[in-house]
Amino acid sequence: MSEEIKVIRIEDVPHFVGQTVKIGVWLRQKRGSGKIAFLQLRDGTGFMQGVVVSADVDEALFKLAEHLKQESSFYVTGEIHEDSRSSFGYEMAVSAIDMVGESEGYPITPKEHGTDFLFDQRHLYLRHQKPYATLKIRDEIIRGIYDFFYQDGFLKFDSPILTDSAPEGTTELFPVDYFDQTAYLSQTGQLYVEAGAMAFGKVYDFGPTFRAEKSSTRRHLTEFWMIDAEMAWMHQEQSLDVQERMIAYLIQRVVDNCQTELEMLGRDADKLRSYTKLPFPRVSYDDAVKLLQDNDFDIKWGVDFGSPEETFLANYYKTPFFVVNFPKAIKAFYMKRHPTRDDVVISADLMAPEGYGEIIGGSERDTDYDYLKQRLIDQHLDLKEYDWYLDLRKYGSVPHSGFGLGLERFIRFVAGEDHIRETIPFPRTLNRLHP
Ligand code: ATP
Ligand code: MG
Repeated sequence: MSEEIKVIRIEDVPHFVGQTVKIGVWLRQKRGSGKIAFLQLRDGTGFMQGVVVSADVDEALFKLAEHLKQESSFYVTGEIHEDSRSSFGYEMAVSAIDMVGESEGYPITPKEHGTDFLFDQRHLYLRHQKPYATLKIRDEIIRGIYDFFYQDGFLKFDSPILTDSAPEGTTELFPVDYFDQTAYLSQTGQLYVEAGAMAFGKVYDFGPTFRAEKSSTRRHLTEFWMIDAEMAWMHQEQSLDVQERMIAYLIQRVVDNCQTELEMLGRDADKLRSYTKLPFPRVSYDDAVKLLQDNDFDIKWGVDFGSPEETFLANYYKTPFFVVNFPKAIKAFYMKRHPTRDDVVISADLMAPEGYGEIIGGSERDTDYDYLKQRLIDQHLDLKEYDWYLDLRKYGSVPHSGFGLGLERFIRFVAGEDHIRETIPFPRTLNRLHP
């Protein structure tokens, strides 16, 4: 009896040079002459070429190879060879094909397709190289986030998704029927992680958040994943230190572990590596406004930056940088007052370079019960919904700071994507809820 042929995955191919193996694959594309067929194969762990040479195989196999359809699935058997011409470095000399699933009329052909079409076909488009590379980088970043916070002594603290309050304002909320009242899908876990920090010191949450963003930009989704970190007994400078260490760590991980994916996306790893140099510059909101005005932006002190302003600033600095101390009037009620100025709060947004813009929003939190109560009243927020939050200032209030990182914003920057919709498996936007 012949020895059983080993079934492996493409990622393991480098360990089997000179051996005959079997792999379950899909066909991406094929080309060839009447004498040789080149099969572009993928299996979810990687991409490789299979070569079928008519002189080396029986006629039936060669015919089968020549007639394989895009995205049909089969087991392919053959000997692994080194191949210095391909970026993978290996190919298979195919000696057998066992069909598993036929595929007829696959819609995403090798010709150019428009973005709308590709996202109508997102369930299939996921199989292609660009989404593959981006979502592998997403996975690396997600694992990096857990590792970073674990190593830094944070507790994972899950905020609820159904809430009765609207910390960032009501206009962007998605309401849902909740028995005989209205609940809202969470826009941020911010307030809840503050309770967590008072119980566990340093905590973070990481989950989906929802905002009814009514304009379509390249940096807004209606469903996105956010990391809220909150640290008791820590002031803003210490929080900025955590933020920049985290960003540098995550970029370094992607550079170390996603070389192939970065290459697929044409993203320059050296450029990314240059963003791991700490500390990141801190620029005051005042100076940022001046810089914008000097460059012909029609912006007045006191307004928030829109996409054009963020893009300009993010091009101006060649590294990630913090814009610190925003006007109080445009920031959330809980941000800490400045010690000497009444018009700004102790806050910071982290901007990514190359025009990517804001990826983190954070602040020190005010600790005073009466002040926060008055801020809630001034902003016409319902005190009853915030009673528990005010309790945190009633029973042993301490200095604390925190920040929120938008996962997809960060991936967009690291992967060098033009649009945020590329960074999540099934994007949700103003115009897209399907598939
Ligand atoms: P922007 O001004 O760009 O709308 P924001 O000030 O509303 O951002 P925050 O409320 O500070 O953002 O939220 C924290 C982080 O969440 C942001 O820095 C960003 O990374 C991310 N984020 C916010 N809104 C979205 C969105 N609609 N889609 C994807 N990520 C988002
Ligand atoms: Mg917003």
